Amino acid sequence: MIPFNVPPFIGKELKNIEKSIANNKICGDGEFTKKCHELIEKMTNCKKALLATSGTHALEMAAILSDIKPGDEVIMPSYTFVSTANAFVLRGAKIVFVDIRPDTMNIDEKLIEDAITDKTKAIVPVHYAGVGCEMDEICRIAKKYNLIVVEDAAQGVMGFYKGKALGTIGDFGCFSFHETKNYSMGEGGAVLVNREDCIEKSEIIREKGTNRNRFLRGQVDKYSWVDVGSSYLPSDMNAAFLCAQIEDPTIINNARIAIWNRYYDNLKELQEKGVITLPFIPENCTHNAHMFYIKAKDINERTELIDYLKQNGVLSVFHYVPLHSSEAGIKFSRFHGEDKYTTAESERLLRLPLYYGLKNDEVDHVCKCIYKFYENQL
Ligand SMILES: *Cc1c(COP(=O)(O)O)cnc(C)c1O
Repeated sequence: MIPFNVPPFIGKELKNIEKSIANNKICGDGEFTKKCHELIEKMTNCKKALLATSGTHALEMAAILSDIKPGDEVIMPSYTFVSTANAFVLRGAKIVFVDIRPDTMNIDEKLIEDAITDKTKAIVPVHYAGVGCEMDEICRIAKKYNLIVVEDAAQGVMGFYKGKALGTIGDFGCFSFHETKNYSMGEGGAVLVNREDCIEKSEIIREKGTNRNRFLRGQVDKYSWVDVGSSYLPSDMNAAFLCAQIEDPTIINNARIAIWNRYYDNLKELQEKGVITLPFIPENCTHNAHMFYIKAKDINERTELIDYLKQNGVLSVFHYVPLHSSEAGIKFSRFHGEDKYTTAESERLLRLPLYYGLKNDEVDHVCKCIYKFYENQL
């Protein structure tokens, strides 16, 4: 069986974890957490990076930083992971979904302006598959209406838009280091704070609402409760694991890009013949090979293909039942405009195995199975 995902492991992680234990400091904000902050800041050129306990928690921190209040509206795509919406619903927001672009599966920037009301507070673009949203246009709209932009860059680590790292273009960016993402610490994430005026507040939110960070820097002689917050900092052992992978992020990135390109080259004939659709990367985006997907004709063909691949030892998956049609989505959200692509395109999409360590002959096997499945259409 070729699994769909294997958590990244490059071999230097255990040594780091041993070191973190030897440091007698396994709680948060130890040596490796600090090192991860520096590495992420270097990798992305962001003002401030703070490790969090998950991508979900990074989004929750961003929602608090955005000062979302009950009744505020937040615009995002419906084709995303539940956490994108949940983080804002937890603060009392109403979610307003708009349709996606069928080419990238990202929010359609041309539909955002029409969804804005006097209650709108933020726009949350999701960089699906590590491919950047049209950020120039999104930021132009945000500026015009005085809205906050929170980038859900959970899938976007080492992805770029016009040379800028995903997660550093809006007010706040959120990374995930879950085991299914390109870089991992098991469970983890990071919030990128791109606004100087929010850095101190982000440290306070992450440290249970206290100014402990100022205390650690010697700026105050005791620390106390100063604002709302929670415990969003991960253990230094988890940071040690991640640190090994992002010290040189190109190791994992290059390997993933090579796999992605191999899939693309192998399968492009099927696209040329109009049998399947392959991912599209806009000119101004550098993607990070977070995902390789294909699109079948419709949901029935996709179901048959999943079964066929499984019979041939390949595990492929789909995801994201559009949030507006889910039980909670009906309660907490509305869909603005027409659902032209969100449901229809999500039903066609199939994700193929892609992980650090996937071998060339395994990629070739997956592709051979797909050709075999479509044999009579060629
Ligand atoms: C993975 C993911 C998240 C959540 O990250 P966790 O670290 O699993 O909490 C949020 N949004 C998107 C788009 C994701 O892919």
